[in-house]
Parts: sequence; structure tokens; C-alpha cells
Amino acid sequence: MSVIDDLLVRNARFAEGFAAGDLAARPALRLAVVTCMDARLVPPAALGLEAGDAHIIRNAGGVVTDDVIRSLSISQHMLGTEAIMLVRHTRCGLQTFTDEEFAEARKRTQGVSPDWVAGTFEDLEDGLRGDVQRIRQTPFIPRTDDVRAFVYEVETGRLRQVH
Ligand SMILES: [Zn+2]
Repeated sequence: MSVIDDLLVRNARFAEGFAAGDLAARPALRLAVVTCMDARLVPPAALGLEAGDAHIIRNAGGVVTDDVIRSLSISQHMLGTEAIMLVRHTRCGLQTFTDEEFAEARKRTQGVSPDWVAGTFEDLEDGLRGDVQRIRQTPFIPRTDDVRAFVYEVETGRLRQVH
């Protein structure tokens, strides 16, 4: 019995009262959120989002990678979003090791190297400013007039904007 079996039970319960089958694929708030996969950060709860409201793109660190650019490009070109909210958070796991340490850890178990980097960072604000720049500079994201970056404090649940 894995934890996933338990989730199947929870899903059956969820589906019993399901009433959101007619929602449009286009996010109602025309918003895309990029954030970390961290388990302490639950974006719909922290941001007051409901089903159908926004795209939520998550990865380790909430870093704007090539694949995040891909998702944002599809989000804006094909699904009508306009605003982009970038959210990293305090005490992020990606601040606790370096790309080099990750490469070493991988080498102990694998003989091959990936074509991506871990994307670790020391400073949350600097990382977010770099991400905003990256979004503004890519030719694949058409709307960049409403891109804002935030740090979510896992200690308080509060967001603070990065300028
Ligand atoms: Zn994180």
C-alpha cells in the first residue's frame, strides 16, 4: 500500500461532489504563476485561487527555465493569460546546496550527465530579478508589462514584492 493508493481514495471522495466540469481551459484571471514545488507553499490557498483561475507552473526553486518559458509562451499565446507572477520562498531547498554539490551527488549514482543544471541560488531577490529579466528578454512571451516578483515567507504565509 503506497501513499498513492490513499490519494485514490481521497480522489473518489473529491469526485463525488464535483461540480467544476464546465470550466473553460482559459484561466479566468488571465494569470500565470511560476513558483517552487516546495510542499509548504500551497499556491491556491496562499493566493486565494480557485479551479479555473490561473496557470500554476512549478519546479524546483520556481526558477524560470527553458521549460517554464515554453509553458508561459503557450499560456499567453494559446490560452489568453496576460499577467505573470513569480514566487520564490524563504528557506528554499535550492539555497541549501550548490550546482556543484548536486553534480557530485548525482555522479555517485549515475554515469551520465543531464543537459540541464540544478539552478541553485544564494539570494532570493537576485534570482527573481534575473527571472524577470529573462522573461522580458525572451522573444517567446509577448506580454511582459505585468510581470511581478515576490518572496513568500514560509514562516508567516506573507508575500513581499521584490523591486
Ligand atoms: Zn523552494
